[in-house]
Amino acid sequence: MEISSILQGGYQHPLSRTWQGRQLNKSMLMYPIFITDDDDARVEVPTLPGQCRWGVNRLEGFLGPLVKKGLASVILFGVPMKCQKDPHGGPADDPNGPVIQAIKKIRQLFPDLYIATDVCLCEYTSHGHCGYLREDQTIDTELSIARIAEVALAYAKAGAHCVAPSDMMDGRIQAIKRRLIDEGYGNRCTLMSYSAKFASALYGPFRDAAGSSPSFGNRKCYQLPPNAKGLARRAIKRDVNEGADIIMVKPALPYLDVISDAAELARDLPLACYQVSGEYAMVCAGATQGVYDLRTMAFETCESMVRAGATIILTYFTPQFLDWLDEKP
Ligand SMILES: [Zn+2]
Repeated sequence: MEISSILQGGYQHPLSRTWQGRQLNKSMLMYPIFITDDDDARVEVPTLPGQCRWGVNRLEGFLGPLVKKGLASVILFGVPMKCQKDPHGGPADDPNGPVIQAIKKIRQLFPDLYIATDVCLCEYTSHGHCGYLREDQTIDTELSIARIAEVALAYAKAGAHCVAPSDMMDGRIQAIKRRLIDEGYGNRCTLMSYSAKFASALYGPFRDAAGSSPSFGNRKCYQLPPNAKGLARRAIKRDVNEGADIIMVKPALPYLDVISDAAELARDLPLACYQVSGEYAMVCAGATQGVYDLRTMAFETCESMVRAGATIILTYFTPQFLDWLDEKP
């Protein structure tokens, strides 16, 4: 056999196997959590095993043990159940709304925990779309991005370390960055862009959790078509140029090529990917059916994202990984 044929000598030991690529670690994990406007709520989401909607009074008991295990960051999603929704998403930046209350509470309870906040209007608009609509029900981009920038600023002012617009409106990264700078938050708040967010079938359980399905139509005029490699590359480059500090690809597993493209196109920025609700539910369902071991599959999916170039992973497996990463040889 030729000398060049032999590879196995290089990875025959467990330790030498870890040297073959970057490793998943706790600081990469960002845990998505749902905050609702019933302060004492702890409501399980049936389609998202093990995940709940939380009221602010429950955050100490919920997050405390995870912080002790090394939880480094969370991303907050508001789930208003009681508020009066309107066409322009008025309740999104209500100072008494769940997100702003949760930011303040978490800052006070866990000063070292990094808080990102999802920024969108769909949970707060009466029509369930992510922006302003004109009378003909098409998106009014200018009004949408001005409103989204206003909401992002409110979260930054409340103490969020990072704002993460998920709306996919054109020009919103520039609008948010400008607004943060003008108001003195340019160096106090990170801007993470959901740059390549695809119109995916994998968001179902999230929409159950967040109650954010559009009341008519769909989001295909602003989220990317699954076949759109070129559009994804253009969106990533655009958002880097508009001032994003972190780029995100969403969903993750069916879009590893896009993560890899983003690692090349935005090579000087941290790169996030979102293992979305449907991906999480799929991994759980397969394990329940005996197709594979849950832990092994959770590692394999997230390690594939790291291999593709991700440096941050938003995942509902975060609590388990905090245990598993301590156990892993
Ligand atoms: Zn939205």
